[in-house]
Amino acid sequence: MSAVGAAVDREEQRLTELDSAVGDADHGANMRRGLTAALVSLEREGPGSPGAVLALVGRRLISTVGGASGPLYGTLLRRAGKELGTEETVDAARLRDALRAGAEAVAQLGSSAPGDKTMLDALFPAVEALGESGTDFAAARAAAEEGAAATVPMRARKGRASYLGERSVGHMDPGAASSALFFAALAETAE
Ligand code: ADP
Ligand code: MG
Ligand code: MG
Repeated sequence: MSAVGAAVDREEQRLTELDSAVGDADHGANMRRGLTAALVSLEREGPGSPGAVLALVGRRLISTVGGASGPLYGTLLRRAGKELGTEETVDAARLRDALRAGAEAVAQLGSSAPGDKTMLDALFPAVEALGESGTDFAAARAAAEEGAAATVPMRARKGRASYLGERSVGHMDPGAASSALFFAALAETAE
């Protein structure tokens, strides 16, 4: 989560620029505010298991981010955290399954699916690319980045970008870009 926070700090402006093309130019600020608050809470509360870490970050994103991405990422991480339970260590295959359940919970909350030009276009391919063992972190990063790039020619069917209709075509979805940052941070941390 520290690596995700650092990546979002670094890429805040790019996320905001992407959101200024298809939304309301706040995705970078939203993500930064949420993750900064989450990292403060992690430091303060020191959760004792990977599941508790993800659940706490998810709760903080929901409570501090006003935009759509707060409840959506919050749901992703809370659900993944719940799947992991309170065990002190979890293996990579369980993390993969937990992230898959989290992505499915986002799809349910957002009534969205891959192809709608959202974060799901990065999340689902990345989770699947983790592979049988759940340890193909570099492949997951590449799949998330490809998934984000693949949103460029899509027409948005969900979220603010959908208000633009045809005019959403030709721009990368900001949430897909931030999801790629999550998987890039995971890959860097796992190396
Ligand atoms: P807001 O749109 O409220 O300003 P953000 O700009 O922080 O919130 O986040 C926008 C991102 O949220 C989009 O780029 C998209 O990836 C994601 N998003 C919005 N609506 C949905 C949805 N229904 N399902 C999945 N993801 C969504
Ligand atoms: Mg926005
Ligand atoms: Mg907004």
